[in-house]
Amino acid sequence: MDSNTKSEVIMKNNHQTLWRNGLGTCGSTEAGRLEHAWKEACGVFGIMAPGEDTARLTFFALYALQHRGQESCGIATFLNNNVFLHKDIGLVSQVFNEEILAKLQGDIAVGHTRYSTTGSNNICNAQPILVTYKNLKIVLAHNGNLVNATELRNYLISRGYKFESTTDSEVMAKLIVLELDNKNDLQLAVKEAFKKCKGAYSVVLGTKDSLVAVRDPDGVRPLCIGTTLKGHHVIASESCALDIIGATYKREVAPGEMIFITKEQKLDSDLFVSEIKPHHCIFELIYFSRPDSTFKGLSIYHFRKELGRQLAREAPVNADYVISVPDSGTPAAIGFAEELKLPFSEGLIKNRYVGRTFIQPSQMLRELGIRLKLNPLRDIIAGKKIVVVDDSIVRGNTSRKIVKLLRDSGAKEIHMRISSPPVQWPCFYGIDIDSREQLIAAKTNSAEGIARYIEADTLKYISHEGMIKSTGLSQETFCTACFSGKYPIEIPKELEGAKFRYEKISTKG
Ligand code: SF4
Repeated sequence: MDSNTKSEVIMKNNHQTLWRNGLGTCGSTEAGRLEHAWKEACGVFGIMAPGEDTARLTFFALYALQHRGQESCGIATFLNNNVFLHKDIGLVSQVFNEEILAKLQGDIAVGHTRYSTTGSNNICNAQPILVTYKNLKIVLAHNGNLVNATELRNYLISRGYKFESTTDSEVMAKLIVLELDNKNDLQLAVKEAFKKCKGAYSVVLGTKDSLVAVRDPDGVRPLCIGTTLKGHHVIASESCALDIIGATYKREVAPGEMIFITKEQKLDSDLFVSEIKPHHCIFELIYFSRPDSTFKGLSIYHFRKELGRQLAREAPVNADYVISVPDSGTPAAIGFAEELKLPFSEGLIKNRYVGRTFIQPSQMLRELGIRLKLNPLRDIIAGKKIVVVDDSIVRGNTSRKIVKLLRDSGAKEIHMRISSPPVQWPCFYGIDIDSREQLIAAKTNSAEGIARYIEADTLKYISHEGMIKSTGLSQETFCTACFSGKYPIEIPKELEGAKFRYEKISTKG
């Protein structure tokens, strides 16, 4: 068997078949999206659909959730007492093929796409995670980040539990096993386990006869529920994963809600905490979620356009064209142009096929940098005053390269407009932005200073108030900690450490 191209059975017993693909580790280039320094956390999916091709439906749903994680992915299925699990490093299109999907038989499936926020990127950390309690097998897929994972892990180790990965998701799974030992009832055990978890978690669990969804009391990461064309229940991180399989969106899983679905499609809902204070991640609206997903009944595209309109009211500029940094800046750029009655044009063409690749670019290609992904339309740009709209600036390096690209293409003036406020604080709730040291807005005194660094003629951000206003909801609805430093879920002191360190830099000049 050629281990580079074919799946390899590495473990097999009566209850479980686990394949591991021999693709090995791969390059760190993101698929589809520009190198943004933001790394999405994960996408989760679950389906309870006896008689349907659950593995294939999950495979397509994971395609739709690929933007939430491009490092590894996996699908687990249950057929009677058998669990079939396949997971590996790579994109959904690289990890699965016809042969593998055909082996993933079952009425219930749980799927996951991952970008590592805790735990390094290796096969041990890929999900779904499989744990066993007596004869009961449980698979778990998680999006988010526990802020008390170390404390819980140490507690579990003190009770004799061993860990195979470095993820907080395994901590959750083992916690459920511990509670099963106390309660001997899955529903109660899940409830008790998640009462002990602090942080952000949107979780899908599968067993041989149940599909479970759990969302943290702050509802930081999204999670929704729908039904297939045949009326079976599905759970997904975003509604775009329902659309791709022809399922109908029903509603969001509420913050602090636990949903139990049986094979008979009976759905039990329970709130597992008494105090619910939603703090949805506002960056899901700005950047992370797909524009064709929905939030509170409206498309994410709608919110992004509103952000662009508000930005235009706050920071107008007279220009020949409004262009976007594709694709995530496009809806805001269209809103910006509409509000100011300026022409919107494509100005940077994205190569959609530069994704994760096993071929590392040579030094010469690396030097071309951003040109691998974006190519300017010179006849639009040369001699023109250009407004470029993007959703955020994290480190500033990408913006600087984009400005240079436009300058080299003959732009007369370049005005950068950003549809989020300056990002000054790290995220502890499932988005991998390490420390303040990496954030240009934490290190630089002003937008003018950042404009000088990226060499734009002007740079303006939407205001915090303007961002909230364009959602049509209240500030209290959202987590906005990466702009304000006000964390809705307390961050343990030991986590703050290095992430909060930074050195102010001067960009006078
Ligand atoms: S800190 Fe920022 S990225 Fe993290 S959950 Fe809050 S709003 Fe979202």
